[in-house]
This record gives sequence, C-alpha cells and structure tokens, in this order.
Amino acid sequence: MEVTERALEAQDLYRFYWAGDEETLALRGVSVAVSPGEVVAVVGPSGSGKSTLLSCLAGLDEPSGGTVWVGGERMSHRPEKVRAGLRAAKIGILLQTSSLFDHLTVAGNIRLSRSLAPKGTGGSSVGDLLESLGIRDRSNAFPPQLSGGESARAGLAVALANDPPVILADEPTGELDEETERRLLALLTLRASDGGAVLVASHSPAVRKAADRVITLSDGRVTDEV
Ligand code: ADP
Repeated sequence: MEVTERALEAQDLYRFYWAGDEETLALRGVSVAVSPGEVVAVVGPSGSGKSTLLSCLAGLDEPSGGTVWVGGERMSHRPEKVRAGLRAAKIGILLQTSSLFDHLTVAGNIRLSRSLAPKGTGGSSVGDLLESLGIRDRSNAFPPQLSGGESARAGLAVALANDPPVILADEPTGELDEETERRLLALLTLRASDGGAVLVASHSPAVRKAADRVITLSDGRVTDEV
C-alpha cells in the first residue's frame, strides 16, 4: 500500500449550489486531513455538508473553492478523466446502500472495480480479499442473495479491491443492525491499523466511538474537532 504522510487533505473547501435565485452554501471553508493509520469520523446534523464534503474529497464533485489532495496528488480542479483515474487507484468508496451490481457475482463486482483502476494498481487475489473479510464462500453469490452483513462486507470488498490508501464511507452502517455495524467498524479499524486512512461520515454513536478523531460539521463549517 502506498503511504504518504497525509493520505488525504482538503484545504478551505467551499461548495455553493444555485437553485434559481437561491444560493446554498453547503461547505464554507472546510479543511480536513487524514493520515495513514487514522479513522476520522465526520458528524453533524442532516444538511450540515457531510455528503458534499465526501463527494468533493472523492473527486465526484468539484469544490467551488479550495483544494483536495489524495496521496499528495491534487484531485480538485482537474479533468474528470484524471479524477476518475486517481479515484479508482487511490480511493475506496463505501456507501450506506449497496453499490454492487446485481447482475454480477461478488467476485465479478470486485473484478469490475479492478478493471477500472490504472494498470499496476495493487491488490491481493479476489479469494484472499474475500477470505480476509470472512465471505470467501459467497464469492459466486449475486448481491440479492446476500444477507445484510454479507452485503456490507461485499461492499467493503469492492471498496478495497484496488488496495486503496484512502477509504471514504458515507453512512456505511446506516442500515445495519448493531452486531453487523460493530463488525464492519472492526474491519475499517483493522484497515487503518494496516496503514489505511479512513474517513467516515455518520450519525452513529458507534462510529464516533470507533474513530481516532471526530470532526463536527455544522452549516458547512467545522465547528468542533476532537
Ligand atoms: P449532509 O450529508 O450533512 O446531510 P449535504 O452535504 O447532503 O448534507 O447537504 C448540505 C447542504 O447542501 C444542504 O442544505 C443541502 O440541501 C444542499 N445540497 C446538497 N446537494 C445539493 C444539490 N445537488 N443542489 C442543491 N443543494 C444541495
């Protein structure tokens, strides 16, 4: 795994949305940094800017102002193709609802994710990856055949498919029962102890507890960092 001092860094991010004459300031000067080995939670009420922040960090959205770096490379204000390549190689994304393709098996989903990354991007074998997450026996199952816990782990397997130095998760435990949430958080924490930089946006007290640092967003600003 590639390790740099700051796996993920954002400086002074702004994001404005316009709907007719209405301007929404979703982010107003947010700076965050996540080092390898850290789990950072981003918390805050609904509408405080968590999803917008994650989208900007992942290069899925462009900030109106400010800069995002991933593994020392600038992600923001670059052509979509460059951002997509950086994202595929360096960022694993985990969402609340499964982002797996239903018509592909679990192994097929992982292979698809691998095929999107630039050549030479790392990663263990599909079997070893599934083994490490405890779902090797579900390799040939299709997503609708998985239980909630298996589905969460399969989503994590896809996020980890290219052995990315950064994991971004948006409410990854929102639909999970307590036990499954605990297991998923243990896997994310393990990833960090292996050198991953993990940032999780969540309402869950369990996520807050599992994190090394907690950043609170309120109305598009960082109002607390502990
Ligand atoms: P959270 O994830 O904390 O619930 P969001 O990042 O989704 O917050 O939203 C932050 C603010 O930006 C909210 O006021 C929301 O209504 C607004 N917003 C988010 N996405 C859009 C969009 N595509 N167009 C207009 N406003 C948006």
